[in-house]
Amino acid sequence: MAGFEKMIVKSKNEYRVQNQLLRSLGDTFETPFYLYDLDLIEEQYKSLYQYIPWPTLKIHYAMKANYNKDILLRLREANAGIDAVSPAEVLLALSLGFKPETIIFTANHMTDVDMHLVKAQKVLLNVDSLFRLERYAECYPGSEVSLRFNPDVVAGENEKVQTGGKAAKFGLLLEEASQAATIAHKYNLQVVGVHMHVGSGIADTEVVYQGIKNVLKIATRERFSKLRFIDFGGGFKVKYHPDEPEVNYEDFGKKITDLFAAYCHEYGKELELYFEPGKYIVAEAGCLIMQVNTVREANGRVIVGTDAGFPQCIRPVFYGAHHPIINISNPTAALCEYDVYGNTCESGDCFAKQRLLPEVKVGDYLGILNAGAYCFSMASVYNLRPLPLRLSCSKEL
Ligand code: PLP
Repeated sequence: MAGFEKMIVKSKNEYRVQNQLLRSLGDTFETPFYLYDLDLIEEQYKSLYQYIPWPTLKIHYAMKANYNKDILLRLREANAGIDAVSPAEVLLALSLGFKPETIIFTANHMTDVDMHLVKAQKVLLNVDSLFRLERYAECYPGSEVSLRFNPDVVAGENEKVQTGGKAAKFGLLLEEASQAATIAHKYNLQVVGVHMHVGSGIADTEVVYQGIKNVLKIATRERFSKLRFIDFGGGFKVKYHPDEPEVNYEDFGKKITDLFAAYCHEYGKELELYFEPGKYIVAEAGCLIMQVNTVREANGRVIVGTDAGFPQCIRPVFYGAHHPIINISNPTAALCEYDVYGNTCESGDCFAKQRLLPEVKVGDYLGILNAGAYCFSMASVYNLRPLPLRLSCSKEL
């Protein structure tokens, strides 16, 4: 499991989280359940401030990755802002004490109802089409707004999460910048932010860099003279597979900061720099623990059946994502090859095929690692199984 020890540590042939034996947590709580490491989440969040040395950097956590209250509260204490994509996300963040001015609302295909609800909460709207901009301007002339642009580059670990380029449905086109400025001018809107988001889990930071250059080029002072910030979105990558390369965010952070400094110089004002990562902050700090109820040979393979399925953790099925899996009960046994399945009535409900795991027996607990992002937040009650329990741990808890 080399490279996946950020949350779970193997010591004395046992897996531990914050010094607690994972195996005994399995005995204590009803499986399947999620376990989150709040200290690691805070560490990940703070690391971005080290990598990106811009004095007014602000990280808005993309709460779509995981809206768990303990996680949100820990990030609020650490001074994070929030990237919200629905009125319910905005309301949850507000109810947990995030101030309206620390939240940005970026909805795709926003309805009038969404718009009015969020506006009533005094939260800034990030608008991503000329149609919605005009509609917003008619309803709220003279107010502040942010504009989401499609950076016209393509990157992301799966085509479902690539949000830039010609095939994407998101954002104002770069060539619509002048029209957007005209609408803003007509209604006396204050365009205080320009935003972009390339995609999720981006390995090639050069593509993001190009996207940033594209967006900065259209964000001129002549068009948008009231800018307060530029938001470069999320997309910071974590390793899901041992063969994936590590991204050097220190170099990337410096490179972006230099580019942004040159842009601000030309713009004539030191703007704030925003990012809105989700996955990078929470993915590695979550684990799904499930129990094995079946081990059987069938047609030349060995099937392991568990008490979780894609309704509890959908990334392997939906994105074809690789997640590391550990045998919590039996970490030192000889390795055997397994197909690890869920318990849902669909043949595609498979977490891993031909996976080497220490010998698995009925009753063993397995852990799906790197399950902190887009796992619980995408869970459903399909097959009418309840949503899994969520536990948080931290040195202080
Ligand atoms: N910002 C926007 C607009 C997004 O759509 C997303 C993800 O879908 C994010 C930020 C967060 O992306 P990630 O979790 O990859 O950092």
